[in-house]
Amino acid sequence: MRCVSAPDAGPWYRRLHWQIFAAMLLGGIAGALGGEPFADRVGWLGTLFVRLLKMIIVPLVLTSIVTGVASIGSSAGLGRLFSKTLGYYILSSALAIGVGLLFVNLIRPGVGASIGGVEGATLPELDTPDSVVDLILSMVPVNVIEAAAKPDMLALILFSILFGVAATGLPEEPRRHVTGFFEGAFQAMMRLTSGIIRLAPIGVFGLIARVTGTSGIEAFQALGLYMLTIAGGVGFHLFVTLPVLLIVLGRINPRIHFRNMLEPLTMAFSTASSAATLPVTLRAVEERVGVSNRTSSFVLPLGATVNMDGTALYECAGVLFVAQVLGADLSATQQLVVVVTALLASIGAAAVPSAGLVVIFLVLESVNLRGPEVDAIVGAMLAIDRPLDMARTATNVFSDSVGAAIIARSEGETGIDEV
Ligand code: ASP
Repeated sequence: MRCVSAPDAGPWYRRLHWQIFAAMLLGGIAGALGGEPFADRVGWLGTLFVRLLKMIIVPLVLTSIVTGVASIGSSAGLGRLFSKTLGYYILSSALAIGVGLLFVNLIRPGVGASIGGVEGATLPELDTPDSVVDLILSMVPVNVIEAAAKPDMLALILFSILFGVAATGLPEEPRRHVTGFFEGAFQAMMRLTSGIIRLAPIGVFGLIARVTGTSGIEAFQALGLYMLTIAGGVGFHLFVTLPVLLIVLGRINPRIHFRNMLEPLTMAFSTASSAATLPVTLRAVEERVGVSNRTSSFVLPLGATVNMDGTALYECAGVLFVAQVLGADLSATQQLVVVVTALLASIGAAAVPSAGLVVIFLVLESVNLRGPEVDAIVGAMLAIDRPLDMARTATNVFSDSVGAAIIARSEGETGIDEV
């Protein structure tokens, strides 16, 4: 099923993405001028908007996946889609890590850097799988309601796929009832998503004002080169590597794809959460890029949870930065260990703000970097993490949409990114 709406018409200032850009700019300036008191006063607008987005994630993912899987039909079709999706995730994340490795080895931001004096921040408590086996086990929910309540996205996705497959195998009559119900519910969720997105300019204003109103400038100066390295790497992956993949693998014009993805990109940037952005991504990829629900419902929810290019790049570059600050020279084998664990850490990272920094400890551990000095450096990295998190989240979301477009093309879908 594919629902296509007309692109925004009318003067530019009536278009949502321009309104969001304006809100970002105004929020940024107002936050910087008004400082913390202003951030406290308007921050709740951002919180309210993110709560509205989170409110729709679970029902949207469930209905979207069940509807999508039911439309795939055969198990051979499902297997093919799954292999392509997995192949794309691994390829794009590996390329991102390669870019991170290149930037951090060329710029060497940690060599001679002094982190002393930068006040550390406290890491949020997040559930992170300790090993690959742990990750696999955590995908199987012992209680679906609990998985939805948490929400535990991988478990919810697995259940939705299995339920969709089971529903497809039913005899004609009950199958029509089940799929009809889920399709209707999915369309209702998409309508709700569109309504909530109209509030984006207000929410984005509050979110950005809070960022600029509460960030001290000193920490940013001490870690300037490190920030430049990460921002440069993430920017390179977003504006060079992924567009090249679009051209080579999908024969798709990247400029059109960027234009179609403006809303999710600005949303990912403002919320720093791939999960909160997922409703907006699903809507844009289906209604603007033109990917079918069959493909997008498979690639996007899974992608928001496990395919994080920006985070993978960050894990690798961040750990090598810590090693450089400590003067620890990592051998080629150790760098390879970092590459592999960075990929696994990005898969295990939750799609919420700062998750990338929480899982960096897994990668640090893999090359025996631990202790109070390491904790102090990571604390300093956290103090300036928000803008970097915004950039890597936008990259994470964009990579999912690139994957959906490429896979849709390879499945013979037409009209992708043509308007
Ligand atoms: N905030 C990122 C996301 O939601 C994850 C990270 O911290 O890297 O995609």
